Amino acid sequence: MIATGNLLKMPAQIVDGQIQYSLTLGQQHVDMNQLVGKHIKLNYLNVINCIKCGAETKKSFNQGFCFPCFQKAPEADECILNPEKCKAHYGISRDMEWAKTHCLTTHYVYLAVSSGLKVGVTRQSQIPTRWIDQGAWKGIILAEVPNRHTAGVIEVFLKTFLSDKTNWRTMLKNELATHIDLIEEKKKALALIPAELQQYASPNNLIIELNYPVETYPTKPQTLSFDTQTTVEGKVMGFKGQYLLLDNDRVFNFRKHNGYLTELCVE
Ligand SMILES: [Zn+2]
Repeated sequence: MIATGNLLKMPAQIVDGQIQYSLTLGQQHVDMNQLVGKHIKLNYLNVINCIKCGAETKKSFNQGFCFPCFQKAPEADECILNPEKCKAHYGISRDMEWAKTHCLTTHYVYLAVSSGLKVGVTRQSQIPTRWIDQGAWKGIILAEVPNRHTAGVIEVFLKTFLSDKTNWRTMLKNELATHIDLIEEKKKALALIPAELQQYASPNNLIIELNYPVETYPTKPQTLSFDTQTTVEGKVMGFKGQYLLLDNDRVFNFRKHNGYLTELCVE
């Protein structure tokens, strides 16, 4: 089987308690879970197309944009990385129409365990997608707020006490921090946030656990990149986060290759 197209983040959903990854490459929809155990080859065709406008770009900015889109597209605005800087609630955005559905909408502040405990922000519709993208193995909603900015303010406050980063090596090695009690951590975190933000505490204490389609986890993960090699080839050990896990501890981050024109071959 051969499919050709620009790589994009793998969509994922939970089916019967297991994460199901897919990939659209050109016209083809590939069920990624079915590749586990098979030998595959990814050939980079030396072209990067902007994931926003499609233009060819020598270099990918901010994981998939050409330079003009990096400067102008709302998807590449600073509020994506720093939600507290979002000004859409003042009517200021690169694109107010886009902001209506991406900034001025219900957001969650969450706690998740990927490497260790972390705090993060996402839109309501992105749970559990966001957690899957980060390779978290469990998560809980902490607060539900009316817009991106407010979520960012709570996150920035909690960053004093909690990490907002994932250690990707720990996450890929599947070293699970099993001692973390999310209900307890949620109580502690809510007690820390300022009084005027307490009203946003979420009553939802459901803990979502995530099971990844992985046969064997790497012990010393080594990253592969199309910036240094044009062919990535091997036996698929599984998928976690946005990583493809190959034999011999090799890993490939799909998200870092957004827009890279690639051919997928499966034996
Ligand atoms: Zn572009």
